[in-house]
Amino acid sequence: MSSKKQPIFTGVIFCNSASKDNSRKINCRDVFTSFLAWAYPTSVRQWYAILTLHNLPDGITSISADISQGQNEKHTLVSANVEKARPDVGNVIVLPLRYKFTTDGLYMVHFNIQGMNISTDAPLRIITQKWPKFSKKQLDFLKINNSIPHSIRINVNCAECSRPYVFEESAFSQKSLTGGVLPFPQTGTFKCDSCSHKLDLMDIQGQLRSSLKNAVIGAMKGRN
Ligand SMILES: [Zn+2]
Repeated sequence: MSSKKQPIFTGVIFCNSASKDNSRKINCRDVFTSFLAWAYPTSVRQWYAILTLHNLPDGITSISADISQGQNEKHTLVSANVEKARPDVGNVIVLPLRYKFTTDGLYMVHFNIQGMNISTDAPLRIITQKWPKFSKKQLDFLKINNSIPHSIRINVNCAECSRPYVFEESAFSQKSLTGGVLPFPQTGTFKCDSCSHKLDLMDIQGQLRSSLKNAVIGAMKGRN
C-alpha cells in the first residue's frame, strides 16, 4: 500500500468579498452562513467560497463546486485549477460563486477534487428578506442629516458579455442621474445594451436599500 497521504478538505467558509494580499494570504470580508435574498432570482450577486486543502498531489489539481437543494439535481457552479503549494503547507483556494436562486430554503454546496472521489459539503440557507421601506420619520431624519448617505451605487457587470454598468438606489424618489449612472428598472430586469442578456437586479436593489435603511436606523439610535 502506498504511504502517500490522501488530499483532504480542512475548511470551507463563505464570504462576500475576497482578495489576495502580497504575501499570498487571503483577505475575506463579511463571512456568512446564510444568504439573505431580497428578491428572486438572485443571479447577479457574487460571493466567494474560501477552501483550505492539504496533501494535494504534485502539479495541478482541479476543484469543482456544485449546488443542490434536497434531492434535486446538482448544478455546477464553477471549477478551478490549483497548483500544490511549495513548500507543502496546504493550499487556500478562493472560488467565486454565482447562482440563480429562485426560492429560499436549505441548499448544499458540494466541493469536489475531480477524478479523486474526495469531496466536502457546506450548507447554505437562503433567507428571504422583507423589502426595505423607509418610514416618514426615517425620511425626515435623512433629509436634515446629509452626513448619512441618501443614495448608494453599485457596479454590475453583465454576466454574459462583462459590460460594466453603474446603478444607483436612493431613499428618495430618484432625481435625474448623470454620468452614465442608471436607476434600477421598475420591472427588476435590465436588458444589456450590448448582448441583450437580462440581468435580474431587484435582489441587489433590495440589498442596497437595506444598507441605506440600516445607516438611518443606526444614526437615529446614536442620537437618542
Ligand atoms: Zn451583455
